[in-house]
Amino acid sequence: MKVKIPSKFKFQDTVLLTVAKPFDFTKPEKNLHLATKMLDFMKKSKGIGLAAPQVGISARVFVIQTDFGLSGMPMLCFNPRIVKHSKELVQIEEGCLSFPGETFKIKRSAMIDVEYHNHKGELIKGILTGIKSICFQHELDHLDGIVMKKRFEEQNEKVSG
Ligand SMILES: [Zn+2]
Repeated sequence: MKVKIPSKFKFQDTVLLTVAKPFDFTKPEKNLHLATKMLDFMKKSKGIGLAAPQVGISARVFVIQTDFGLSGMPMLCFNPRIVKHSKELVQIEEGCLSFPGETFKIKRSAMIDVEYHNHKGELIKGILTGIKSICFQHELDHLDGIVMKKRFEEQNEKVSG
């Protein structure tokens, strides 16, 4: 898959409702360059997560940094997936850089087992809880073309009858 990295990022809705394409790892430096630029743009925009489709790139990568303290390490996730969801759910008022000012209360799994690749294509496994878990699920939705509003409506549809 060829990814074109724009010199200057801006929020776009051109591929926001599209399922993003998986990564290959033939050019790891380019992958790292993309993720680093995304991270910079996310921080500048005062977000804690950013998925490539939000900036018009249809590729399965997102970046997360929920803690900007000393312990806070950014996560650069290529081809991420959730391998196990906890039954326990949590719900917070979620926001999204693509929809400034809008918030939705969305039910998410409290704990998730995840797998993703780093920019070189090496497999990384982890268990996420708290805000990291919620953020990972929100960003993964972006890669599947699902925005907050859609997720919210799906969870709050009245069952007829
Ligand atoms: Zn979002």
